[in-house]
Amino acid sequence: MALDEYKKKRDFKQSPEPSGSRVPTSPAGRASRFFCVQKHLASHLHYDFRLEHNGVLLSWAVPKGPSLDPSVKRLAMAVEDHPFDYGEFEGVIPSGYGAGIVMLWDRGTWTPEVDDVDAALTKGDLKFTLDGYKLKGSWVLVRTKGGWASSRGGDRSWLLIKHRDNWAGEVDIAEFAPHSVKSQGDFADILSKGNPDIWQSHRPAQGGEAGAMFETIVARALEMKTGTPATQAPAKKQAVKKKATAAKKKSATKKKR
Ligand code: MN
Repeated sequence: MALDEYKKKRDFKQSPEPSGSRVPTSPAGRASRFFCVQKHLASHLHYDFRLEHNGVLLSWAVPKGPSLDPSVKRLAMAVEDHPFDYGEFEGVIPSGYGAGIVMLWDRGTWTPEVDDVDAALTKGDLKFTLDGYKLKGSWVLVRTKGGWASSRGGDRSWLLIKHRDNWAGEVDIAEFAPHSVKSQGDFADILSKGNPDIWQSHRPAQGGEAGAMFETIVARALEMKTGTPATQAPAKKQAVKKKATAAKKKSATKKKR
């Protein structure tokens, strides 16, 4: 089953992620179907690129995100198939696998530029057209061979490349359009809006590796909101921390009322 690995990695009593009970029938051939990109602030920020195929979402983790510049090849690591319902997911994963904040960064439809998607995947060369809010036009996913990839166990590494067309350009799309297409918010908004109790009940226990990592993620989300780079001067970091503490106090006060 395509979703076995997805389910094995997660405890759905703990995780708000869809369990993947619904497997729809996806169109075949060159028909258009769903695609999305989820910006995922976990232990490392990355972009999860997902294409609907055979009722699930084929998934690649793209550390730097897609580039509209055809001369830029972005590493895309193939990861486990995700349930179709995952495509609309945005929220906070408080603990466990993928712990962090998920933002629906782009969505729309993708259209294969080949007749047989499975054959293209086997070959390691899938050409397609995207029609999202941010990503459009012709793209290709190419599996890398040999060298670095084979020494790391294989054919999980692909390159995501924009083809030269009217939708190509030099604008850094990740920087130009950083927010959610679902809520229009940033990570900090998703953290507080969707989960007003996040500071209390859903917060992982203090201490421990998971707790420490989540603390870092929360701090990072606040930093990204204020536009302060993660590699900032210590003095500025203090200011951001104070702000976070103030926000915490504020929400705590609200609770008491
Ligand atoms: Mn991810």
